[in-house]
Amino acid sequence: MIFTNGSMTDASTLGSMTTAAVLDCGKLGGALSLWKTLVAKQRGFGYPEVFIGDIDKSKWLSFTVTTTLPLLRQLFEHLTNITLGREGLITFKESDWLMTLHPHYYPAYPGQPEEAIVWWGYGLNPDREGDFVKKRMADCTGAELLREAFSHLHFDDNLDVLTRHSHAIPCMMLYITSQFMPRVKGDRPEVVHEGSINPAFVGQFSEAPDDVVFTVEYSVRTAQMAVKALLGLGMTVPPVYKGQRNPLVLLAAGIAELEGAGRRAQAPVRRGCEHATRAGTRGRKEL
Ligand SMILES: Cc1cc2nc3c(=O)[nH]c(=O)nc-3n(C[C@H](O)[C@H](O)[C@H](O)COP(=O)(O)OP(=O)(O)OC[C@H]3O[C@@H](n4cnc5c(N)ncnc54)[C@H](O)[C@@H]3O)c2cc1C
Repeated sequence: MIFTNGSMTDASTLGSMTTAAVLDCGKLGGALSLWKTLVAKQRGFGYPEVFIGDIDKSKWLSFTVTTTLPLLRQLFEHLTNITLGREGLITFKESDWLMTLHPHYYPAYPGQPEEAIVWWGYGLNPDREGDFVKKRMADCTGAELLREAFSHLHFDDNLDVLTRHSHAIPCMMLYITSQFMPRVKGDRPEVVHEGSINPAFVGQFSEAPDDVVFTVEYSVRTAQMAVKALLGLGMTVPPVYKGQRNPLVLLAAGIAELEGAGRRAQAPVRRGCEHATRAGTRGRKEL
């Protein structure tokens, strides 16, 4: 038996353009509650409470948006000077929600209509009030999340039309960073306990030495470890890449950081994402 003992999206709830996503603190999803039930019957398979015991520390609010107005692409590209979807994460460092946006490169999904721009955002401080919408992020509807996002981008002149052509779905994720809760060895079960032939634990809450959670790779690696151990297929699990010890990687990262700092200094329009408003305002009027 191969068992995913927990999911970072367990028990997530959805809102809509007109309703906020409900925070249900008593809720556990299928994977986490199965793990909890298992350890209640038999010790030695970790401690789920370590990860799920403090929802205020493990929750985020995220929202996914579809916008069917090409103007948004123009505004984004004018602001960042980069093809939409290639700019990476855009974080408003001074925002009280610590809001980040991420437009997806087209096409993000099979069959995505050309006019549909898909993007998402999240805030690490969902209990704080917004800078423009004076409500806790967690209490905001999709329309209110859009207002905050477009205001940070200084798209104010087009706020109404952009909102009318956008559909935002808030998502409260109770356990999204629960894998990062303080833990000690033994809090997560081994993928396969020594000498055991069943079960195997896979996913973000099982133990893969040296690997980094919040990645697809982590879950895939634990699955590979499980298959190798339980099915004995003679396969090799690729070693964890340790870039932090490779001088060439460190050098490349340093150069990229310096180049990025230089670009940011030379391109005032990019500061529109960091509350340096003047350049962003000028760009908006030109459109
Ligand atoms: C917003 C967001 C952004 C992310 N960004 C990145 C990124 O950029 N790069 C990256 O590498 N990773 C990223 N991740 C993390 C990545 O998505 C996860 O680490 C990965 O999906 C975990 O895979 P998994 O199979 O372990 O668990 P999941 O993908 O959570 O799958 C668990 C599955 O088990 C099902 N399930 C639960 N209970 C039961 C039950 N009782 N019976 C049957 N089925 C059940 C669930 O429905 C779910 O389908 C992101 C995650 C989120 C939420």
